[in-house]
Amino acid sequence: MDVFGLLGNPVGHSLSPPMHEAAYDELGLEARYVTFEPEPEAIEDAIDGAAALGITGLNVTIPFKRDVLERVAADELATRIGAVNTIDFTGSGRPTGHNTDAVGALRALRDHDVTLENARAVVVGAGGAGRAVAFGLADAGATVEIANRTESTAHELAGEVPNATGHGLEGGTLAELLADADVLVNATSVGMKTDETPVPAEALHESLAVMDAVYQPLETRLLRDAAEAGATTVDGAWMLLYQGVEAFELWTGASAPVDAMNEALRGQLSRS
Ligand code: NAP
Repeated sequence: MDVFGLLGNPVGHSLSPPMHEAAYDELGLEARYVTFEPEPEAIEDAIDGAAALGITGLNVTIPFKRDVLERVAADELATRIGAVNTIDFTGSGRPTGHNTDAVGALRALRDHDVTLENARAVVVGAGGAGRAVAFGLADAGATVEIANRTESTAHELAGEVPNATGHGLEGGTLAELLADADVLVNATSVGMKTDETPVPAEALHESLAVMDAVYQPLETRLLRDAAEAGATTVDGAWMLLYQGVEAFELWTGASAPVDAMNEALRGQLSRS
């Protein structure tokens, strides 16, 4: 039996186990997906222990995405992003580290017929999710405007991402950036469990595709405002789904049963 899992602290309410186990059931795989909550000082031992026990793959979440870089052979994208969310133990050498948040975001957008090549994209937020989304969009051929509450972090990230510029959130900056933008991604935590948005509603328009990384609730205030403005909307569960799909495919080499995983994921989430 293959054992997969999630390393994080806390991981109590993770949506990943039912999503991955739905895939195993659908494909008749003998596998389990379990959560592990090591103390922060034990993270390196946890990875070495997982390798010794023959665990097949681990996802990694807060607060360990950066810490595990030390213990794995990170691929080029994860190294640039500076964070690993998927570890693959199936090879013979050191476990490999990957970042499927970036590709997950791109797949979520493409799934909604959003063109990314030569698109003008605005990413609000420059934390872990913002970094992954900004690198992903740049790799897909978009120009990226990064706007962050702490402006210096936006400038630092823009210095690392090709075709990117950094901004603050003060004054009418977002309205100016969005006026001729094609894609907007909220990669801040604003809107999570509170009915707030980091983007003024009047800056949204019908030529935009708007994705929210926040998935609790599914219908954030940003996405309600975007729908009202006639924009295409993509909720955060799509990004979460496709980062899981990418991890599943990396570990198993099989095509993921996307519909079964999506159903299991959405069954656990509330719309508002
Ligand atoms: P993080 O590393 O802690 O970054 C948080 C970001 O939000 C920073 O850019 C921060 O700005 C900004 N922020 C926080 N409070 C703000 C406020 N009141 N006003 C404006 N900006 C604010 O967190 P993360 O890991 O990037 O996660 C961000 C969100 O994305 C979370 O809701 C998380 O659940 C979600 N996420 C979703 C997926 C998915 O698959 N859908 C994947 C990863 C993360 P400062 O730099 O100024 O602090």
